[in-house]
Amino acid sequence: MISIEPHVPLAPYTTFGVSAFADSFCRVTSVDEIRELITQGWFTKRFLILGGGSNVLFLGDFHGLVVRNELLGQRVVHETEENIVIEVGSGVNWHSFVMQCIDHDRGGVENLSLIPGTMGAAPMQNIGAYGVEVKEVIEEVKGIDLSTGREVTFTNEECQFSYRESVFKHAWKEKFFISSVTLRLTKKNHVLRSHYGAIQNILDQQKITSPTLRHISDAVIHIRSSKLPDPKQIGNAGSFFKNPSITVAQFEQLRERYPEIPSYPSENQLIKVPAGWLIEQCGWKGKRVGRAGVHHQQALVLVNHGQATGAELFSLAKEIQRDVREKFSIDIAAEVNIIESAS
Ligand SMILES: Cc1cc2nc3c(=O)[nH]c(=O)nc-3n(C[C@H](O)[C@H](O)[C@H](O)COP(=O)(O)OP(=O)(O)OC[C@H]3O[C@@H](n4cnc5c(N)ncnc54)[C@H](O)[C@@H]3O)c2cc1C
Repeated sequence: MISIEPHVPLAPYTTFGVSAFADSFCRVTSVDEIRELITQGWFTKRFLILGGGSNVLFLGDFHGLVVRNELLGQRVVHETEENIVIEVGSGVNWHSFVMQCIDHDRGGVENLSLIPGTMGAAPMQNIGAYGVEVKEVIEEVKGIDLSTGREVTFTNEECQFSYRESVFKHAWKEKFFISSVTLRLTKKNHVLRSHYGAIQNILDQQKITSPTLRHISDAVIHIRSSKLPDPKQIGNAGSFFKNPSITVAQFEQLRERYPEIPSYPSENQLIKVPAGWLIEQCGWKGKRVGRAGVHHQQALVLVNHGQATGAELFSLAKEIQRDVREKFSIDIAAEVNIIESAS
């Protein structure tokens, strides 16, 4: 029988490390345990599914049940000479899985090395880095319907992936417990993406002309370690904000005032502007407000300098959003999931 613990500190289960308690807490290691919680009626009340806690900010104590996902295991679904299709338990650590792929020379996820968190959270916001998004390798996602206990399979298309988005954050929010993710990886003729960020520079410096998956992964790990703060050293949840997309007309107006404004093409003929640049222009890079702050190397990352509350970090985020709106007339949305104490 599943064990529910009362009044459990959540700081050790999140990368921001802010102090917050869950009224009730449990770990699930099997789909049967999820069904047990359904039968007991836990999902008809307030609940939160927690993976690695690397994309959440608790604003205070959580008045409900926190379910920590520990569904492990994986199986090969299908294999040809070119590809391998693997179904992976949603509680598996994402980076460990990527490392396993590199060890077995399986391509497709190498640019996503060193992203913290679990497999099950990867489709939630369609994790992405260095020119690659996880939607490119996802075949399907399985979820347990939290009202019936039934297992439902979603095709890639049904997940409605876009930049840091999926249907699981909207229409199906809190309706399913993602139990496994099935990925298609290459076994040969890997398509290597080295054009993004400084990957190619690193390969050039090392005089690598025929890179392998491991070369790409090592370069990504090197770049990330040199510019992103390690949550073990200083609490953070990676990029706090999403990069906003604006119309071409709005971009042209801004470029008149700021000729150096960086940009990338985006979906639906919009133009994406790096939120980090906007925040930096507002003078926030490296600034500190009490125990909360903006990282000195990466303005997109808010940091907990020690003992900051979720409310303090959230209030800093709101100040930044207000300044960016005033200076550029652009709204920057939070990428991190903000968890209120009560619904
Ligand atoms: C240092 C650092 C760097 C990062 N870099 C990147 C990056 O490059 N690219 C990127 O995209 N993200 C990045 N992130 C954000 C984060 O790592 C990812 O979003 C990751 O997928 C979150 O996984 P998690 O298991 O920690 O999710 P959590 O934070 O535990 O949960 C996130 C959300 O998903 C929901 N959820 C989690 N698991 C399930 C499930 N099984 N079923 C249903 N709902 C679920 C939760 O309820 C919550 O709403 C970074 C974070 C950090 C701290």
